[in-house]
Amino acid sequence: MSTANVYVGLGSNEGDRESHLVAALEALSRIDAVAVLRCSSLYDSAPVGPAQPRFLNAVVALECTLPPLRLLTILQRIEQDLGRRRNGQRWGPRPIDLDILLWDGELVAEANLQVPHLELHKRRFALEPLAELAPELKHPVLGATVEELLARLAPQDVRRRSATQWPEASPLVNES
Ligand code: AMP
Repeated sequence: MSTANVYVGLGSNEGDRESHLVAALEALSRIDAVAVLRCSSLYDSAPVGPAQPRFLNAVVALECTLPPLRLLTILQRIEQDLGRRRNGQRWGPRPIDLDILLWDGELVAEANLQVPHLELHKRRFALEPLAELAPELKHPVLGATVEELLARLAPQDVRRRSATQWPEASPLVNES
């Protein structure tokens, strides 16, 4: 079975945001076919689109033996379990949002899943935490590293924040 290195973005802008991120991380850790390798710091960011509460964001690095669409289904299940309403406003507040940002150097172009995430290169709230984990990683479509993409972006209101429960920037498993 092949193992992929996958980066997942987490966001929350409803209720106790950090608790929602931690609950999602715990849910990811419970999946047999997924190993959570590392977590970025937390970032407090202004919402993109219509006015709504600020987000708390992070990125996690996973090893995954599932196909991409299977992981997407599991992420959507975790979103629902944590109180996400799919019939809500597209851009409305949400307790948790989970996005597959990158899947090794692979491209996925399905009706319901595009990887790299189509907005990744425009979003400082995803690139900043991703750059903590994998600054040299290349975007397989744009050919630039995460660090280079970040350097091209105009300033956005994204502030690194200390954590109380989130295991920021600590290795979760022994990678040796
Ligand atoms: P959102 O409102 O941001 O949670 O968008 C959810 C929708 O984006 C779902 O219907 C997914 O099928 C779709 N989608 C497309 N590409 C991705 C991706 N890379 N990660 C997560 N969801 C994705």
